Amino acid sequence: MKNILLIQTGGTIAMSAKGDGVELDPVAWSKTLKERAPQLGELAEIHTFPLFFEDSSDLNHTHWIRLAECIHNYYEEYDGFVILHGTDTMAFTASALSFSLKNLAKPVIFTGSQVPLASIRSDARRNLINSIEMATKDLREVAICFNDHVYRGNRATKLSIGDFDAFGSPNFDPLAVIGLEIKSHYMNPPVSGRFEIQTGFSNELVVLTVFPSLNTDFLMKMDISKLRAIIVRSFGSGNIPTKGDFNLLPFMKRCREQGVILSVISQADHDAVKLSTYPAGRAVLKAGAISCGDMTLEASLTKMMWLLHQYEDKATIETAFTKNLAGELTP
Ligand code: ASP
Repeated sequence: MKNILLIQTGGTIAMSAKGDGVELDPVAWSKTLKERAPQLGELAEIHTFPLFFEDSSDLNHTHWIRLAECIHNYYEEYDGFVILHGTDTMAFTASALSFSLKNLAKPVIFTGSQVPLASIRSDARRNLINSIEMATKDLREVAICFNDHVYRGNRATKLSIGDFDAFGSPNFDPLAVIGLEIKSHYMNPPVSGRFEIQTGFSNELVVLTVFPSLNTDFLMKMDISKLRAIIVRSFGSGNIPTKGDFNLLPFMKRCREQGVILSVISQADHDAVKLSTYPAGRAVLKAGAISCGDMTLEASLTKMMWLLHQYEDKATIETAFTKNLAGELTP
């Protein structure tokens, strides 16, 4: 039997009903796991590790580092890792780990649920069983397993608040679809060295969502002296307002003069940014911005945070950002 480490970090899966809503209750959770999913041991030899216990909206890069360190510490002892995590920021954590875990040759599967495991009509049991099963396979990457689908972690995004089918992977086919049989479509990348972790993330960046009538006065007065990068959530293929009072180009110029990296992503989930299509996009390109290509916001943001920590030099960061580092970007 394979050895699997089940790392607990909190999230709805571990919550209990409270009034109209749900909340984390560590005492109730330790009983729930044993009572509601007693047959998990038929799939693998499972050891549980309570790393932290949070709603995932309270997680940040320090938690990502603790997770990477936990996997590193137990890497040799286990064949695979399942991480129970809240759905709200699961795609951020999975993306962050995909950049931190180098030469990964074992499955690291994130899962959670929309309804707590403790509730009778819950999606948790199925997600948990599927994830443990996937963690026994020869899958060598960070993935999210949810509602009978396995997605590459840095390609997935939370799409639904109320549906059991909470995640999607707009620009990359699922790694596997689980039905009567498990239909796998993954091709493991070659692993060329020893497993190691490269942790560290900088939060000297912001995400700017562009919208019609965005007040450029606010932006021009913004203190950008400590800022190193902006992810600009543009329209369509990478367009921004370029006329009159709403022209964003002077702000972009100001950022470039101060050495701030500008990286353009689209508000549309599907397909890739293409700055050369429209005059507005070409102006953005001329202003010195780079493209997020077809990356998700979660992958773009965590990749930039990771690169800002790894390197000082702006050109080095920009070059690395536009390359495919962990399967997050279609070259
Ligand atoms: N707020 C919860 C969390 O992300 C939502 C969930 O797990 O579905 O922790």
